Amino acid sequence: MQKHIPTQRGAALIRLDGATGEGGGQILRTGLALSVITGRPLQIERIRAGRPKPGLMRQHLTCVQAAQAISGATVSGAELGSQQLSFHPGPVRAGDYDFAVGTAGSCTLVLQTVLPPLMLAEGPSRLQLHGGTHNPMAPPFHFLDRCFAPLVRRTGVGLTMSLRRHGFYPAGGGEIEAVIHPAAEGPQPFDLLERGAAQDAFAEVVAPALPRSVSLRELDALGRALGWEAGQLRELPCRQNEGPGNALMVTLVHEHATELLMRLGERGLSAEAVAAAMVQDVRAAQASDGAVGEHLADQWALPLALAVVNTGRPARYSFGTMTDHTRTNFGVIEQVLAVRFDVVRTTTRFEVTVR
Ligand code: ATP
Repeated sequence: MQKHIPTQRGAALIRLDGATGEGGGQILRTGLALSVITGRPLQIERIRAGRPKPGLMRQHLTCVQAAQAISGATVSGAELGSQQLSFHPGPVRAGDYDFAVGTAGSCTLVLQTVLPPLMLAEGPSRLQLHGGTHNPMAPPFHFLDRCFAPLVRRTGVGLTMSLRRHGFYPAGGGEIEAVIHPAAEGPQPFDLLERGAAQDAFAEVVAPALPRSVSLRELDALGRALGWEAGQLRELPCRQNEGPGNALMVTLVHEHATELLMRLGERGLSAEAVAAAMVQDVRAAQASDGAVGEHLADQWALPLALAVVNTGRPARYSFGTMTDHTRTNFGVIEQVLAVRFDVVRTTTRFEVTVR
């Protein structure tokens, strides 16, 4: 494995403080991915110290177990609630894997953990992921499929994803398949400073086990506020036993990048209120000068850094909003890989050069 990124097996321990920056689960996931990629052991303390319920929750524990499964790692501290972890990986093994969060915790974040090492592995991998597919504070399936995966494919890595079943909090039960084909010469970097011309914009609702009127009201309110036509307002097919759940999504397709926004319905929140919140999100995204949105800004950092390390060629991208997530992720990656994220703030956006 790691034909293209030099492994540093036996090299110094990666020590991470989970309280750094926004102090969330991202430090753990990026740390695990980097440990498996470099072969360096990982020691992480104060896991998710910045969160109301610190330590490993089901979703984070599944990320640890998934990273362990693909690398044959020796692990201690992998228990629910644990705030420290010691992780000694072996070589990465491409193959077929099945990872189940076991609750409605996000299974897309499990993919976020194991994709970077598997995209550098010796052979293809096929993953079955079970858990939540449309969660608060996590990338929904449609975001990974439409926004993230196309960028990964531009590096030369094959990544295809299918949604077998939706999974919402609290029932879970969602299922995703992801197939990963490493690039023959390793991932290749590219610049993404402009998203290009707007090509399409549409809204979709998926609301299993809820009255159809909820979906129709959300779409109607959104369509009126944005002046969208009926063809831009869609109900997604779903099965009644996939709910109850309600995700309103808007996809903004541009020439070079796609943005997907999601608002989840909640008990006590009217369909009109969900639509009104989404209208604000859409207007902000349309007004942005960045090539990618705030979520892709943090998620693109590691795949691009790996492509830069693989080739020695720098690459740039731009985004409208700098979050703590993005800043923290840059910091963790810089601590382990021989790359720097040089960020320049212009009047309208942030431009980062990875070198
Ligand atoms: P926590 O420690 O807060 O419980 P967590 O383990 O769920 O959190 P975070 O550190 O909050 O993880 O990271 C969440 C990840 O999900 C980030 O990469 C963020 O960009 C992504 N994300 C959150 N909301 C969305 C969204 N609506 N669309 C796309 N990605 C999202």
